[in-house]
Amino acid sequence: MTASYVIIGDGIAGSSAAETLREEDPDADVTVITDEGEALYNRILIKEFAKGKLPEAPISIHDDSWYDERNIDLKLNTLVTNIDTDAHTVGTHEGETLEYDKLLVATGGTPTQLPVENSDADGISHFWTFQDARQIKDGMEAADDAVIVGAGLLGIDLAAICGAQDVSGKYLMRGNAWWRYALSEEGAEIMHEAMRERGVEPVFESGVDRFEVDDDGHVTAAIDPNGDRYGADFVGIAIGLNFNTEILQDTDVKQDNGVVVDQYMQTNVEDVYAAGDLTRFYDVILGEYAQNGAWGSAKEQGTIAAKNMIDPESEEFRWVSSYSITHFDFPFLSFGHPTLGDDSAEMKHSDTEWRRIAIKDGKIVGGVLIGDLSPQSAYKKLMRDEVPIGDQKEILMQEGFSVDDLAPSKEQ
Ligand SMILES: Cc1cc2nc3c(=O)[nH]c(=O)nc-3n(C[C@H](O)[C@H](O)[C@H](O)COP(=O)(O)OP(=O)(O)OC[C@H]3O[C@@H](n4cnc5c(N)ncnc54)[C@H](O)[C@@H]3O)c2cc1C
Repeated sequence: MTASYVIIGDGIAGSSAAETLREEDPDADVTVITDEGEALYNRILIKEFAKGKLPEAPISIHDDSWYDERNIDLKLNTLVTNIDTDAHTVGTHEGETLEYDKLLVATGGTPTQLPVENSDADGISHFWTFQDARQIKDGMEAADDAVIVGAGLLGIDLAAICGAQDVSGKYLMRGNAWWRYALSEEGAEIMHEAMRERGVEPVFESGVDRFEVDDDGHVTAAIDPNGDRYGADFVGIAIGLNFNTEILQDTDVKQDNGVVVDQYMQTNVEDVYAAGDLTRFYDVILGEYAQNGAWGSAKEQGTIAAKNMIDPESEEFRWVSSYSITHFDFPFLSFGHPTLGDDSAEMKHSDTEWRRIAIKDGKIVGGVLIGDLSPQSAYKKLMRDEVPIGDQKEILMQEGFSVDDLAPSKEQ
């Protein structure tokens, strides 16, 4: 019998699942549904478009013919509005009902709105889609002064766009450092200095209390909780994601700030799988549930989900995620879960070289490397292989560290 697979979302998770399903089950019916008006594009590169450094064309990954050639039914501009897991159907905003044997939910997230006065004013943008990037590019090109909010990996993209577009920027952060959950002040200061060099001034112990607007409803300033006023005709906000899980509200699919899946990307409801940013997955390396918000991880989850949709529990997701930033003169990479752990080790080797690893139960669970990325494969291997590092933190921090430098583990 021909199997019928329905995938909701044509981001990298949904799209890689569709590709794998077609490769491994050539006769199956495969349908991909997306509410966006364009097929898979490279979300990682939309920041380069917004900077004005890349045209639109190279950002697209698949055009319609990619789906036609693989006999995958792509439904653009189609919002899934409900799922009936008993009847094995999904419904769309146009009233269409599609039946599935196996369903993959790969709907990612939507940027969290800042819950303050006037946060929906003209000139204020959030960052997730290609459409957002077009709006940000236009907004930055027309702006004199910008305010950036959100001291994480997407906020720094907005700061870098600001710098690249020669707009004077204030980067308002709630704490005393950028991405303070993963970096110490010493490491973060390297990033702060790089922002300053591009004309974006970090402002600490700040944030936004409200926005001011002109008579046309366009933003004119951000007022922070200290009462300080930052004039801006453009504001970029990246304070996190709300996962797109409304469609699961009438189902028994378990959620816990994300869709809960096991290491096979399977939810608690039969024939329903999930992949990508919106999952809270069982991380077999950590031995607990975790989340990743990274392209490579979403791609791998889509592939693994597809394999298990065809052959249940045939392949587990075992993955050390990584995320790099290329805006500055030095490279930056975070891997694994740099904000977790009960211990850490860090070292500064020069003005632009710093590293920190997060340790949990005596094993590496993540880290951040600035300037010198050469130890990344060694750290990732130690994490993937769950190697106890014992009292060898100093060795791990040495320049030119390699796995062979560690004494053999007594546990092995
Ligand atoms: C600006 C930016 C820069 C980034 N830079 C990096 C980077 O440098 N490195 C890195 O590793 N990661 C980066 N990321 C993160 C990375 O892009 C994500 O982790 C990844 O794209 C997640 O893929 P996904 O398929 O899970 O979700 P998404 O890409 O969000 O795809 C989900 C899709 O589902 C659609 N959808 C949602 N609800 C419905 C519905 N009800 N019906 C139909 N369709 C629906 C959405 O419109 C969307 O198209 C960046 C993200 C952004 C926004």
